[in-house]
Amino acid sequence: MEKIVSLCKRRGFVYPSSEIYGGIGGFWDFGPLGVLMKNNIKQLWWKTMVEEKENIFGLDSTVIHHPKVWEASGHLASFTDPLRECKSCHKRFRADKLTREKCPECGGELTEVKQFNLMFETYVGPAKETANKAYLRPETCQGIFINFANVVDCMRPKLPFGIAQIGKGFRNEITTGDFIFRDREFEMMELEFFVRPGEDEKWHDYWIKERLKWHQEMGIKKDNLRLFEHPKESLAHYSKRTVDIEYKFPFGWAELEGIANRTDFDLKNHSKFSGKDLSFQDENGEKFYPFVIEPSIGVERIMLALLLDAYREEKNNKVTRVILSLNPKVSPIKVAVFPLLANKPDLIKLARRIYEDLRKDFMVAWDDRGNIGKRYFSQDEIGTPWCVTVDFQSLEDKTVTVRDRETTKQERMGIDKLKEFFENKLK
Ligand code: ATP
Repeated sequence: MEKIVSLCKRRGFVYPSSEIYGGIGGFWDFGPLGVLMKNNIKQLWWKTMVEEKENIFGLDSTVIHHPKVWEASGHLASFTDPLRECKSCHKRFRADKLTREKCPECGGELTEVKQFNLMFETYVGPAKETANKAYLRPETCQGIFINFANVVDCMRPKLPFGIAQIGKGFRNEITTGDFIFRDREFEMMELEFFVRPGEDEKWHDYWIKERLKWHQEMGIKKDNLRLFEHPKESLAHYSKRTVDIEYKFPFGWAELEGIANRTDFDLKNHSKFSGKDLSFQDENGEKFYPFVIEPSIGVERIMLALLLDAYREEKNNKVTRVILSLNPKVSPIKVAVFPLLANKPDLIKLARRIYEDLRKDFMVAWDDRGNIGKRYFSQDEIGTPWCVTVDFQSLEDKTVTVRDRETTKQERMGIDKLKEFFENKLK
C-alpha cells in the first residue's frame, strides 16, 4: 500500500486534498493521471451498464435533495455508525471495528456506544435555520427513486428495466484511512434495476454474476475477488439480501461493491411521504411497486483495487522495474511516443507528427528526456501499454518500433499501421 500511495503522489494520480494546509482527512484530489484513470473507469462502467443494455437509462440528479427525501429513505433515522470516544484522548472510533475494550491510541477508557449519523448537513438559502437544513447525499440512488415516475413517463419501459447514475456521494465517516478506500467525499456508480416482485431473487443472482464478470474484465485477478453474503442481522434497513464483492486488499478482504435487494422499500416510502403514486402499471393494467436490485460501487475504491492488483516489480541485474499491469482500457495513457535522440531535428519532426496524429484518437504522451530505457521504465510505472520509438530507420522506410509493456518486446511496423494496431488492441 505504501508503494502505491507514493507512486500515486509522485506520478500525479492522487494528492491529499488541501495538502498545503496540512490536508483534510478523508478528502483526496485526483491529478492529471488520476483523472484520466477515473474517467476510464466511469466510461467502462457506463458502457457495460447503460450503453450495451437496451433497458437501462441514465440519469444525473442533484447532490442536494428536498430534506424529506432522507426522512422517507430512512437515512435520517438509520444511516448511522456506532461510535465510541476515548475519555482520555477524545479520539473517536467506529465501535464495530474495535477489537478491544480500550482506546487503540492511548489505552484509555471508552464511552458507551452512541449512534452517529453519517450525513453531512448544510443550509439552503441565506438563513441558517432548521427549516432550511439539507443534506449532501450519502448515496446517489435516492435521486433515481424520486425521478422514477419521470423516467417511466418519458421512456415507457417494460419491466425489468434500470436507471443508472454516476455522481458524488458524501459520508462523514467516523474514521477514514487506508488511502482512498474510505473517503468522506467520493464518486459512486449505481444502478437501480426494477423487477416484478417474485422475480427479484432471480435478478439478484443475475447481477451478482454480471458484476463479478465485470471486475474480471477490468483486469482484477480472479483469486483476489470473492463474494460475501451479509448475515440477516447486519443488513441495511431497506435490504432483503445483500451480497458484497470483496477484494483482497493489503489490510484484508473488504467490500469493493455491494449488490442489494432493496425490495420495494424506497418507492413505497417515497409514495407515502410525497403523496405521489410511484407504483408501476404493467401492460396488463396491473399496478404494483416493483422490487429493486442495486449494484453499487465507489470509483475510488475500484481504482485502488485496480492499482494494487496491477502493481508488480521485476528485478533484473539489481535494477528494479516497476510495472502497473493495468488493462489498457483502464491505463491513463495508451501510447507514449519518443524520438530515439532528443538532439536530432529530423527524428523529432517525424516523432512529433506521429504524436500529433495519434492524439486525435488516443490519450498519448510525449517524452524526449533522458535515455530510451529510462523513458520505457517511466511509462511502465504508470501502466502505459505501448511505446512508439522513432529511430534513424524510421526516416528511411517510414517504420517505427512499438514496445509492449508486458513482454518488453519491440515490433517494427509501418507508421500508417499504428492507428489500426492500437484500435484493435483496445477493442
Ligand atoms: P461500510 O460498511 O464499509 O461503511 P457500506 O456497506 O456502508 O460500507 P455501501 O452503502 O454498500 O457501503 O456503499 C456502496 C459502495 O460505495 C461500496 O461498496 C464502496 O465501493 C463505495 N463506498 C461506500 N462508502 C465509501 C467511502 N466512504 N469511500 C469510498 N467508497 C465508498
